[in-house]
Amino acid sequence: MENEKEIISVFLDKNSERDLYREPFKKGEWICATCGPALIAIDKNRCEGTYKVLDTLDVKKYLLMETNRQETLLLPELEKMINTAERIKETVTFGEDIKCTECHGSGEVEWDYKDFSGYFDCPVCKGSGYTSVSRKKKTGRIIPDPEFKIKLGNRLFRLAVLEKLVKTMQLMHSDSCIYKYSEERKPETVLFQIDKDVTVVLVTTYPDY
Ligand SMILES: [Zn+2]
Repeated sequence: MENEKEIISVFLDKNSERDLYREPFKKGEWICATCGPALIAIDKNRCEGTYKVLDTLDVKKYLLMETNRQETLLLPELEKMINTAERIKETVTFGEDIKCTECHGSGEVEWDYKDFSGYFDCPVCKGSGYTSVSRKKKTGRIIPDPEFKIKLGNRLFRLAVLEKLVKTMQLMHSDSCIYKYSEERKPETVLFQIDKDVTVVLVTTYPDY
């Protein structure tokens, strides 16, 4: 399908420690990609790429879950919700957190003197527990706050999660989707049917108290 790679990559987390979140996979009749809070499932006959078969995730459980409410969402309305959300200064993280191997991240090492023993700050990491830490840097760009919450029906979504649906609809040149959810708060996942072969599953969130 058009923009197949781009659509799939919207749902991946290339920096994840879990294999499942880094690469798309084939499960039954579907080609899927997920980063945890969002998943896409595309009918395998629509895809041109080759994908590894993976059997660990029960995709069917999400795709065939029971829902009792349904509404049509229009792309311009969804785009507006994202574009009018609270804005923040974008930051990027560079470097990575590497735990100290001497103290295994505890920041302390044991000492013994005659019959005494106790702990003191690890001399390798100077008590921090890390030999390297990641830092955040402002990019200078102003972006919609990824943690901003958007309401659809009786559910709330983190902007960063809902944005994946919007990007998919834009890449598929689709003006609308069918939003399927249940009246009850559970389950925490809902469905967005973009067309008969493409479904997006998103995890909902809760209000701040
Ligand atoms: Zn240490």
